[in-house]
Amino acid sequence: PDTMPELSGPRPRHRTVGVAVGNVMVGGGAPIVVQSMTNTDTADIDGTVAQVAALARAGSELVRITVDRDEAARAVPHIRDKLHARGVKVPIVGDFHFIGHKLLADHPACAEALDKYRINPGNVGFKDKKDRQFGMIVEEAARRGKSVRIGANWGSLDQELLTRLMDANAVAARPLPARTVTQEAMIQSALISAERAEEIGLPRNRIILSAKVSAIQDLIAVYRELARRSDYALHLGLTEAGMGSKGIVASSAALGILLQEGIGDTIRFSLTPEPGGDRTLEVKAAQELLQTMGFRTFVPLVAACPGCGRTTSTVFQELARDIQTWISTSMPEWKARYPGVEALNVAVMGCIVNGPGESKHADIGISLPGTGEMPAAPVFIDGAKAMTLRGPTLAADFKALVSEYIER
Ligand code: SF4
Repeated sequence: PDTMPELSGPRPRHRTVGVAVGNVMVGGGAPIVVQSMTNTDTADIDGTVAQVAALARAGSELVRITVDRDEAARAVPHIRDKLHARGVKVPIVGDFHFIGHKLLADHPACAEALDKYRINPGNVGFKDKKDRQFGMIVEEAARRGKSVRIGANWGSLDQELLTRLMDANAVAARPLPARTVTQEAMIQSALISAERAEEIGLPRNRIILSAKVSAIQDLIAVYRELARRSDYALHLGLTEAGMGSKGIVASSAALGILLQEGIGDTIRFSLTPEPGGDRTLEVKAAQELLQTMGFRTFVPLVAACPGCGRTTSTVFQELARDIQTWISTSMPEWKARYPGVEALNVAVMGCIVNGPGESKHADIGISLPGTGEMPAAPVFIDGAKAMTLRGPTLAADFKALVSEYIER
């Protein structure tokens, strides 16, 4: 032990000023918040209520909705009321572009119903009107005690700022690569807008920043700098992560690195769903990233080996899937009855090679027999072999043991 290096975990969280969004705290040392966004037409009240409720049920702690026109702004207070009538109290964030100042001024009930306004400094208005329109939204938030996310975006970067920095770079003694200048424009767009919001009267504990890009290395570089230069609460996310496994891998890689460095107070996985696909996938993926990295616990983890040539029957895969599905569907009831159940670890392993060892590390684990092994499945509870299961009722017997364990 004297010669063993100390193993390092994540860096301490970057200190940020905490921001209350409705009843959810973002930053200031609060647990990292999972959030998501609807893709319904906000003017479709019932459709939007259903999707917000589904996202909240899946575990989204903030939900953002588009407010792009009068019909959408008119719908917002009805959406909030219908959600409250269903017992869904998740804070609602309004996403504003181009005419947010006008929508908030013309629809006070919408301005009041929302818990946070998202402003994109690149899309807040044009030329001489830009500062005034930005100021109108910030004043509205300050007057109503609402929080604001100032969200710069690679795809809608403030062109005047970018042009100014590019011009300065062109005559610099040692010009920087264009990519670096664009990253700097993203950082400055967010920070200058935040400073301006504070000058207008929005306190720092009402301001969250984001600077989203779709390339992982750019995202990491931009957020490292944002964290180094400020203590604003930070919202992390790739702006266009993509579809399916690509989107999940890209988001996990980018956000995982930043979270490990202590950067990030709230995260969103901006996954492109399949047409008609499940929007809640982005919530589950964000939760799984936080849980697998050890930052939060949401749902019991099932550790399962990948299987190999030693598992030629499908019994092992079926049991792993069965247990995972059973746990997911049982969670609402378990959470109400057994506080802390989400920290449970279950292992379902395919053979004797790693099965007993991995099962011993879990709270409760089972090691199924691989091809050619004796048809017996030892069960380990709290690190010790507790019994051996056999026969066609093995899956049901193991579930009964997990249930007993949770109750105990
Ligand atoms: Fe294969 Fe056994 Fe390892 Fe699973 S535990 S991957 S079945 S060797």
